[in-house]
Amino acid sequence: MKFIETRGNDGKRPERVGFSTAILSPMSSFGGLYSPETLPDLGNDFLASHLDASYKTLARDLLAAFEIDIDAGVIDAALDLYDHFDDPANPAPVASVKDGLYVSELYHGPTRAFKDMALQPFGYLLASLAQQRGEQYLILAATSGDTGPAALETFKNRDNVRVACLYPDGGTSDVQRLQMVTEDAPNLKVIGIHGDFDDAQAALKLLLGSERFNATLNDMRVSLSAANSVNFGRIIFQLIYHVHSYLELARQNAIALGDKVYLDVPSGNFGNALGGYYAMKMGLPVEKILIASNRNNVLTRLINEGRYDMRDTRLVATTSPAMDILKSSNVERILFDFYGAERTRELMRQLDEERYYELTPQELAELQAVFSADYCTDEEGLAYIRSTFEDDGYLMDPHTATCFKAWETQAVKTIPTIAYSTAEWTKFSPTIAAALTGQRDMSDLDALKAIAEKAGIDIPDRIAALFDREIAQRTVIDKDDIEKEILAFLAGGERVETRLSPSRRATPPGTAGSRPAFPPSPAGSPATGDARHRVS
Ligand SMILES: *Cc1c(COP(=O)(O)O)cnc(C)c1O
Repeated sequence: MKFIETRGNDGKRPERVGFSTAILSPMSSFGGLYSPETLPDLGNDFLASHLDASYKTLARDLLAAFEIDIDAGVIDAALDLYDHFDDPANPAPVASVKDGLYVSELYHGPTRAFKDMALQPFGYLLASLAQQRGEQYLILAATSGDTGPAALETFKNRDNVRVACLYPDGGTSDVQRLQMVTEDAPNLKVIGIHGDFDDAQAALKLLLGSERFNATLNDMRVSLSAANSVNFGRIIFQLIYHVHSYLELARQNAIALGDKVYLDVPSGNFGNALGGYYAMKMGLPVEKILIASNRNNVLTRLINEGRYDMRDTRLVATTSPAMDILKSSNVERILFDFYGAERTRELMRQLDEERYYELTPQELAELQAVFSADYCTDEEGLAYIRSTFEDDGYLMDPHTATCFKAWETQAVKTIPTIAYSTAEWTKFSPTIAAALTGQRDMSDLDALKAIAEKAGIDIPDRIAALFDREIAQRTVIDKDDIEKEILAFLAGGERVETRLSPSRRATPPGTAGSRPAFPPSPAGSPATGDARHRVS
């Protein structure tokens, strides 16, 4: 299978590339992405013949249908990483939560968010390719809180790969931040930036596309790649669990093979939803894909009104920060698939220049035939978390909660819905504790304890241990300094003078490793981890 460019070809790059090239160098002509030229068709028997297949077998057979240029042995070793999930036989269990509403839990991997589903095998694949080719790679990752830990975890101590991970300082939960800043391996660099996730993602895209930065890396014999879902190497692992969840419903006798279901996806960069869309195009019986958002509801408006509009729209901090995104990267692959490269290039240029584009009525109708959307406010999310815990005995995180709103307003209830749970309760505990106990503004640690007590469960060891681990990564800088910081890291890691944020500067040396090392900023100062969780 070959991959082609979402914004067409500039005459300098190859017109189509293999999978390995698409994942090693994910940016294509005119700032576009790589998308599959065609999708395999599962055919009539695939689902029936995989009804009893393990997750790994299903994954192997789906990947085989893509005919990617990766050795079978490498693919098998990559898929073996699912053995480290809670239940190796079923890394993504599906719970029956309400009549007709099933929750596919994608967070049972090492960093407790769904990013592990793709990043675990992807990291292994990419490092293997780099080693086979004898090349050195720098992986840039921008994170709103879950990609970072998952990328660091998967690339930690892997040869031929270094990772620079950008996160918005104050834009993540304490647990997410600790997962990153306590990662200590010579090939990892974690950089907090003053700004929000869109700033981090924009800075990353700028660097990926910067000729000067690429030339400097070239001189150092380092190539650049990305671990965000702009990288198709992640998307390919994300269509697998949609097929798996469907089969789980069949195994639970909730559906017969061939019955249609809704896929209900809490969406940010649209990688998860895109995986569902590809699975649907490959033949998975899907009625519609429900796109759940929070108050940053650009996707809701795109799907309901046909306008991608970021004018007069500011990113707001919500209790589902992994979805606090305005510019959703993988929508581009949907545009490409629906309307072709020329139109995609035009729309994306307009979005870059005017922060806006509008679909024609016919284009919108095509989009609405597949997608339906709604968004959930923080207060509504709290209510779903509380009522689902009280009525159904089911504990869920605030991202998952947004799916409940989309299900309530968008689904015909005679058709079963698979909602995707993208994070464990441990990652966003202050919000969940507020929902369950009514007490707001708890620290992550207090909230974890409160939830554990209320629900009669234990705080998982690897989360509890984070609070005692030493802080290894202390860099927090302005986005203008990112390039310099990364080059210094590549040059051998001697510490450059970095401007510490006010809250960190106040930290006496030697007290790192527990929560007080990062005291909240003074009242009124923006963007502290604690402000993020104030559920107002
Ligand atoms: C990344 C993430 C999302 C958004 O997924 P996309 O594939 O970017 O749409 C939703 N919830 C959680 C918890 C996440 O980590």
